[in-house]
Amino acid sequence: MTATSAPGQGAEYAATASEAYQAALRVIESVEPRIADATRKELADQRDSLKLIASENYASPAVLLTMGTWFSDKYAEGTIGHRFYAACQNVDTVEALAAEHARELFGAQYAYAQPHSGIDANLVAYWAILATKVEAPGLAEMGAKHINDLSEADWEKLRAKLGNQRLLGMSLDTGGHLTHGFRPNISGKMFHQRQYGTDPTTGFLDYDAVAASAREFKPLVLVAGYSAYPRRVNFAKMREIADEVGAVLMVDMAHFAGLVAGKVFTGDEDPVPHAHVVTTTTHKSLRGPRGGLVLATEEFAPAVDKGCPMVLGGPLSHVMAAKAVALAEARQPEFRTYAQAVADNAQALADGFVKRDAGLVTGGTDNHLVLLDVTSFGLTGRQAESALLDAGIVTNRNAIPADPNGAWYTSGIRFGSPALTTRGFGADEFDRVADLVVEVLENTQPAAGPNGPSKAKYTIADGVAARVHAAAAELLDANPLYPGLTL
Ligand code: PLP
Repeated sequence: MTATSAPGQGAEYAATASEAYQAALRVIESVEPRIADATRKELADQRDSLKLIASENYASPAVLLTMGTWFSDKYAEGTIGHRFYAACQNVDTVEALAAEHARELFGAQYAYAQPHSGIDANLVAYWAILATKVEAPGLAEMGAKHINDLSEADWEKLRAKLGNQRLLGMSLDTGGHLTHGFRPNISGKMFHQRQYGTDPTTGFLDYDAVAASAREFKPLVLVAGYSAYPRRVNFAKMREIADEVGAVLMVDMAHFAGLVAGKVFTGDEDPVPHAHVVTTTTHKSLRGPRGGLVLATEEFAPAVDKGCPMVLGGPLSHVMAAKAVALAEARQPEFRTYAQAVADNAQALADGFVKRDAGLVTGGTDNHLVLLDVTSFGLTGRQAESALLDAGIVTNRNAIPADPNGAWYTSGIRFGSPALTTRGFGADEFDRVADLVVEVLENTQPAAGPNGPSKAKYTIADGVAARVHAAAAELLDANPLYPGLTL
């Protein structure tokens, strides 16, 4: 077991996990063999590819196995100790443990473990903010205790007020997420939204511009956080801006929660002491099961705790159990080593690109992700993503600021270090990855389309994909995924 790999990957643990998976697959096989085959094949494919998708990772067998239990069968609408279903005592234990680990790990006043995903966590947070800042004072003004006590006319007035609030978030093309006020997402329909971007020359977040926009727009919610911004954010400054205009600061740390948990981001870069509400996914750099979490100050905790029925139905108790296991893993000292290696490896990857003259948005990174501008290779993001996949390198295309190719074809490729760091890759391997990526892209050309160069089709020089694939396989063989786990 390396210091950075998922915990418990010693020989004995691997042998026990092998037995568990072999037995589970035999059981599945007896009902639907094609699912057992697809499950085996998925592991083989993940083992055989250089996974550089910034939002993915490899959870430990303990986390994965925890999801396959009878907690999946249990309905438990409500909250800990206050359920709308009988016999939820074990779900209470599970949810309380997940929340306790989250509070301890992040130093939060309150944690809510029910959201099924990041998008759900954000919806719970938005509605908790609306409930606290708009609904509760509105009810008090109308002299009512509960919304069910309002007349039709008063309820309509309150509903109109709830739907007339403002949100300021980072734009999608500069690295924000679609749940931060993008019109096609419900967040952009619920709120009047405005977006802040990055400095067009440096690509860095411009706090003065955010402040100017906040002063003019006066949002109820200021959202910080990103899915494709390769730099750290100063959350103390974002809180100052929020306070100046009377906004609630919500931070979506879905991408970098592992760096917060692993104490790479501390002080002004740790969102928890600065934000009113923090949301996250649990499956990216945090290396847990697919799911979401909300952390909140005492002011917002009661409203967040009503995530069900406000936004959610029955919680996924089996996933909450897996969140508890993953958060327990993240509280181990090894996780700090892992998180630091994630940041160091992203840096090595960025340096590898820079020294090979490949253009990076902001010129580098200081978090877990690197955004490569592939226009320097004469390609669209779509062509680069496909060519890299042909060579066994799994990435995703991503818009860059003011992207000339739009959100579908894009001009960028986003790389993340969390997954390969879990496999044990270090700085030298990440430098080699940069080398392989550049080799593929330098040897890829757009194919001719009916009106000039195609944005999707491409050709790769003979032999390059196979050569890179073989070189990637060497790196992967030296750093096996789930070493000792046999199916
Ligand atoms: N927030 C951010 C910043 C994200 O990057 C993502 C996922 O990509 C989400 C929220 C949504 O997470 P999920 O896919 O679990 O709904």
